[in-house]
Amino acid sequence: MSKKTLVILGGGESGVGAAILGKEKGFNVFLSDAGRLSDHYRGILEEEAIPFEEGSHTMEILLGADEVVKSPGIPLDAPAVKAIREKGIPVISEIELAGRYTDAKMVCITGSNGKTTTTLLTYHILRAAGVNVGLAGNVGRSLALQVARCNFDVYVIELSSFQLDNMYDFKANIAVLLNITPDHLDRYDHQMENYVKAKFRILQNLTPEDAFIFWQDDPVIRRQLERITTEAQLYPFAEHREEGTAAWVGGDDDSTLYVETPGEKLRMPRADLSLNGLHNLYNSMAAALSACILDINKDTIREALGNFEGVEHRLEPCGTLDGVRYINDSKATNVNSTWYALESMPKGVVLILGGKDKGNDYSEILPLVKEKVKAIVCMGKDNSKLMDFFGPHIARMADTHSLDEAVEACRRFAEAGDTVLLSPCCASFDLFTSYEDRGRRFKDAVKALGAK
Ligand code: ADP
Repeated sequence: MSKKTLVILGGGESGVGAAILGKEKGFNVFLSDAGRLSDHYRGILEEEAIPFEEGSHTMEILLGADEVVKSPGIPLDAPAVKAIREKGIPVISEIELAGRYTDAKMVCITGSNGKTTTTLLTYHILRAAGVNVGLAGNVGRSLALQVARCNFDVYVIELSSFQLDNMYDFKANIAVLLNITPDHLDRYDHQMENYVKAKFRILQNLTPEDAFIFWQDDPVIRRQLERITTEAQLYPFAEHREEGTAAWVGGDDDSTLYVETPGEKLRMPRADLSLNGLHNLYNSMAAALSACILDINKDTIREALGNFEGVEHRLEPCGTLDGVRYINDSKATNVNSTWYALESMPKGVVLILGGKDKGNDYSEILPLVKEKVKAIVCMGKDNSKLMDFFGPHIARMADTHSLDEAVEACRRFAEAGDTVLLSPCCASFDLFTSYEDRGRRFKDAVKALGAK
């Protein structure tokens, strides 16, 4: 029998992992990337003797594929992808490919915000419990590479809606849906419904043995659950207990976290959670529920929820100077995540906003801004939308166009007891190469001021 040809589109972490797994499983593999590969990934492909091209696509080869693995970053309407689909060649994601070759338990985490935090927190708990666990998806190494080279019993996988788009037979054992708010609508014909459906693909193929953990207070999730059915066991989490809630807070002043599954009852003081803020309470509930379902010892779960160190660029404390705290939340690239950042802050915030606006509606954060923010420092190439929107409500505003200018303005506005918060609501690409670059440069600037 002749070998099947597997074409991989995109030579980043997921594409190169898929190429290695495909080769190992006996496919003729060819990787094609319309852009330039990084030296790192080019080196791996050469070392593994996997044929590839970069800078353009050779359509004859692509159209000769039996199956195509598409990197999540490439849109479905990219010309090469369109031609492949028109020819009837199946297009799958790297996760779909990898799922075929492993029996490991899959804990899959999706949502508009909180995926990385919840994924890393869940992984941290399972590691602390001594589980043979791998970390995959948007964080860590690709699932395909780990399936090819490692032998984990459980994977914790962060799934974006783009990865879910091309998943068909893949099956989670524990599916976590944190929340759904508008994001990336440009990739979904500007239809919220399409984005919601993509997120709900995490439920496909679940059986009665599997678990579905979701945020019960989310109106979008609730509405969609009325329209669809799933055989999975439901584990809703919410701020307050309602019918069926599996994790909530209660007790005096809502000071206790409760997590209940048929096999486990876990309680812990909310103050012992290492991550602060309402959003992180939800993320902690989702991680604790996954751990309880996997029968992890309760003391281990409590301890791990208490000593998790947090994730870089997500409400990351980066020093105090003259009584002013500096916090890096550069990953807040949409309005909803900035809402949660502000929600977790005391009054007296000097807020750095701005960057590449993805069609934001700032009215969602206006009440919190009015309550907690004393000054806004806009940091972007073009700040006119922010200046116009917040100008009538906030007396002290600065219009800055570089990080140094922005930090200087913050120094002017902030007094002892205040918090300078970089939580920009916007993508970073106007002034920075990525949100990581923005966050690191902010931290460097704060350190250079002498913050400790
Ligand atoms: P994702 O991987 O989904 O982008 P992250 O864990 O990286 O999520 O967090 C991104 C931003 O969203 C952070 O700045 C944080 O303040 C905010 N955030 C984290 N968890 C939640 C949540 N459950 N709901 C809303 N916002 C959240």
